[in-house]
Amino acid sequence: MPAAVTDEAARFRPGRAAMQLHVALSGPVPWRDPALAAVPLVHLSDGSGSTAIACAEAEAGLLPRRPTVVVGQQHVLDPSRVPAGAGALWLQLQEVPFAPAGDAAGELDPAGGWDATLARGYADRVLDRLGAHAPGLRELVVGLDVITPADLAAHNPNALAGDPYGGSAELDQNFLWRPLLAASGHATPVPRLWHIGASTHPGPGLAGASGHLVARRLLAPTPRERLRRRAPR
Ligand SMILES: Cc1cc2nc3c(=O)[nH]c(=O)nc-3n(C[C@H](O)[C@H](O)[C@H](O)COP(=O)(O)OP(=O)(O)OC[C@H]3O[C@@H](n4cnc5c(N)ncnc54)[C@H](O)[C@@H]3O)c2cc1C
Repeated sequence: MPAAVTDEAARFRPGRAAMQLHVALSGPVPWRDPALAAVPLVHLSDGSGSTAIACAEAEAGLLPRRPTVVVGQQHVLDPSRVPAGAGALWLQLQEVPFAPAGDAAGELDPAGGWDATLARGYADRVLDRLGAHAPGLRELVVGLDVITPADLAAHNPNALAGDPYGGSAELDQNFLWRPLLAASGHATPVPRLWHIGASTHPGPGLAGASGHLVARRLLAPTPRERLRRRAPR
């Protein structure tokens, strides 16, 4: 492997950590605004300024005071996901530190890392934030499963530092520079070995786009085949 590749690979940075809450409810989410009951994915934030502050807090190692909450209620589209009359929440938090050094709200003590107490305390903050828009939500909770950044990292060696997205997608690790400038795109220095997945262009997600790009490249006619097709018969 060329030294330029191994050197750059050693400097590849994970992105911000994430956390996931799965909540079982005895009834539908009691949204204050009933229109939200029909929306499968709601982003709860006080606006882009609030999200920017929460990102900055997480980048600084702090638990955000007012986290942005991605609120999934997939059973709106697929009622078979919950018992009749019940509800469920899939809450994603994309602004959390992997190794918390403090709490921006000054309430939780992260000295023990992502242990059960911290996980529950932060989950309570998130549920309270959501409850402000859905009064009575807490009374409906019948089950809660918390996946912390530490759980994510322990479950999948690809989720370095609790990053669910296969590496920071800031500009220097994106587009032409993903995963590395010395091994950009999907070809690797090893002949006929290709690299796909979230760490490669066009980045994370479940769309399979990197595999599609490589497949198209592999299936494209060779220069010889192109010439043969163009030649007059
Ligand atoms: C909680 C969460 C929610 C998400 N939500 C969404 C969403 O709603 N929409 C969306 O588009 N994307 C979402 N994502 C992101 C999406 O899941 C990833 O971008 C995508 O799964 C990356 O695919 P991948 O094949 O590159 O890597 P992965 O899915 O991480 O697969 C890599 C596999 O390789 C295995 N592995 C790693 N190292 C080794 C090793 N040394 N030996 C053997 N096996 C190894 C891992 O165990 C894993 O199975 C979410 C991610 C998380 C964590």
